[in-house]
Amino acid sequence: MKNIVAAILCGAFLLTGCSAEKPDKVVSEAHSRDIFAMDTFMTMKAYGENAEGALTEAAVKITDLEKLLAVTDPESDISRINSGSGSDVQVSEDTAAIIEAGLKYGEMTGGALDITVYPVLREWGFTTGEYKIPTNEEITSLLKSVDYTKVQLTDDRVEIPQGSMVDTGSLAKGYTSDRVIEILRENGVTSAIVSLGGNVQSLGLKPDGSQWKVGIKDPFQPDSEMCIVSVGEKAVITSGNYERYFEGEDGRVYWHIIDPSDGAPADNGLVSVTVIGDSGLMCDALSTALFVCGTDKAQQIWRSEQSFDMVLVTDDHRLLVTEGIADSITNISSMDMEVLSLD
Ligand code: ADP
Ligand code: MG
Repeated sequence: MKNIVAAILCGAFLLTGCSAEKPDKVVSEAHSRDIFAMDTFMTMKAYGENAEGALTEAAVKITDLEKLLAVTDPESDISRINSGSGSDVQVSEDTAAIIEAGLKYGEMTGGALDITVYPVLREWGFTTGEYKIPTNEEITSLLKSVDYTKVQLTDDRVEIPQGSMVDTGSLAKGYTSDRVIEILRENGVTSAIVSLGGNVQSLGLKPDGSQWKVGIKDPFQPDSEMCIVSVGEKAVITSGNYERYFEGEDGRVYWHIIDPSDGAPADNGLVSVTVIGDSGLMCDALSTALFVCGTDKAQQIWRSEQSFDMVLVTDDHRLLVTEGIADSITNISSMDMEVLSLD
């Protein structure tokens, strides 16, 4: 009997790497990199001996992606598509992958995500900061060119109708954080966390084996956090009405997420949507789309997909979290936390 116990104990030790050697010290050495790209501050932190070189490679990738996707750079893939006057344009693999995802999540959310909403967004001034409230006539006219189903993607070629424009702002940062994590992993990094303008994605666990703690901003007081979520290897991505907005002459506040069904800032009861899942691209696309959808439709999509968790804040100060993540959330807000269950 004693022998059996000894054998089991040894097995358990072996599984946890029970050698008498000291843990690898270099693994916990932190390296970080801050860059400004895609119109936002990005910070990356990676641990271990390969981290420095990996971060340099990741920073190069971010700059490359920015060049491909910048809607204001005439040389970018996106600008070439937008000035293609109805003909098809060859793009990079990255651009094609992002557009493919844009169309997929457009379909999944019934058009709440529409990568062709750009002409409307521009009319509101969100692309330049010269804000104005367009007239109903202007919006009606511009909405005629908004329809993601008219975007044709065949391998690496993209064609959009004349007068339409695409913009990947709703999901580009999520795609970018996926690529960053991939580069870090390929370089042998096993522990890292990046924040691309508040969009967080992690690789592995913290060097001490504990979970990452990610703060989610309080949409009613964006200088402070409303809750902390503990995650392993995940993306935690938020869309909120407080990120870019202006106050119109009518005293109302208008924000940068547009409801493609009426061309106005989406006002369907939500002020913040955080999506937590395995893919940065999915979480970024869905955080924007579910913000447009509103509480009920967001829940319907969550139930039918079952591939992500979410934290919603409604305009009447309700904090709703899905059951898969509820136990990992510390609520530090004055709102009560309500748990959404699958059944
Ligand atoms: P942020 O970039 O602030 O993190 P989001 O990921 O929610 O926020 O993306 C917002 C951006 O997405 C807008 O600035 C605009 O470029 C674009 N956008 C706004 N509304 C839509 C929409 N309904 N569908 C697709 N893209 C949108
Ligand atoms: Mg988004």
